[in-house]
Amino acid sequence: FLGDDLTLVDYTETQVLSEAYNRMLGRMKALDDSRQEFVSNVSHELKTPITSMKVLADSLLMQEDVPPELYKEFLQDIAEEIERENKIINDLLSLVKMDRKASDVNIQATNINELIELILKRLRPIAAKRNIELVLDSYKPVIAEVDETKLTLAISNLVENAVKYNREGGWVHLSINTDHKYFYVKVEDNGIGIPQADQEHIFERFYRVDKSHSREIGGTGLGLAIARSAIMMHRGVIKVYSEEGAGTTFTVRVPLLYSE
Ligand code: ADP
Repeated sequence: FLGDDLTLVDYTETQVLSEAYNRMLGRMKALDDSRQEFVSNVSHELKTPITSMKVLADSLLMQEDVPPELYKEFLQDIAEEIERENKIINDLLSLVKMDRKASDVNIQATNINELIELILKRLRPIAAKRNIELVLDSYKPVIAEVDETKLTLAISNLVENAVKYNREGGWVHLSINTDHKYFYVKVEDNGIGIPQADQEHIFERFYRVDKSHSREIGGTGLGLAIARSAIMMHRGVIKVYSEEGAGTTFTVRVPLLYSE
């Protein structure tokens, strides 16, 4: 009797252990796959501007008696590609810095309203160029323990997107709220919206709904990945609600007190 019971226990334990081991192996493999995919994406993204620059430079070198205007035009295109390369590298560096372990986290009691007002002040001229209204609708005074630089980057990316993926004459509305534990920021726009099927992917690195549109308006596909990492670094949550053709709302919830 007893022997049988023991055998049963042993068997179950071995099974549990081997399942845990398999799960761990699976997770390690998934991690490795996603790392490999990331490296391959980075290489591809960094190569694109270089390929364009090479084509532009080669075609200038191949021609004789190039008129100065054409030279200028090509050099302008090359300068744009350099700018693009720079943007990707800067975004990649920001993303790396968001890693909680790798980063020098600088937490300070911060006035969230002032932080957001500053972002809006900086982005209003850009929005105004396309007649887009940028308004802080409502707010409650909030002081929270955050890394100012990282939170600014996260909210800036959301507001920049709300302007970028909007139409001439559109609007972007923000609100700040709080309770005893968290503060909440809402960024709402009446822009082009995000198709349902894409919504679960937009926080992935280099994911873009419309690659050529994003590229045209200077996107790197890293903005939301950076925003999510920054919010997660604060143990916060970021969510998206969107309807294609109608608009998009991003909500952010961050604890008022920072915890390790
Ligand atoms: P990008 O550099 O392309 O803007 P992001 O990571 O910031 O990259 O965003 C990923 C994609 O999500 C964008 O390419 C765009 O298709 C979509 N997106 C993000 N924010 C919005 C928004 N407010 N309205 C519509 N689409 C958006």
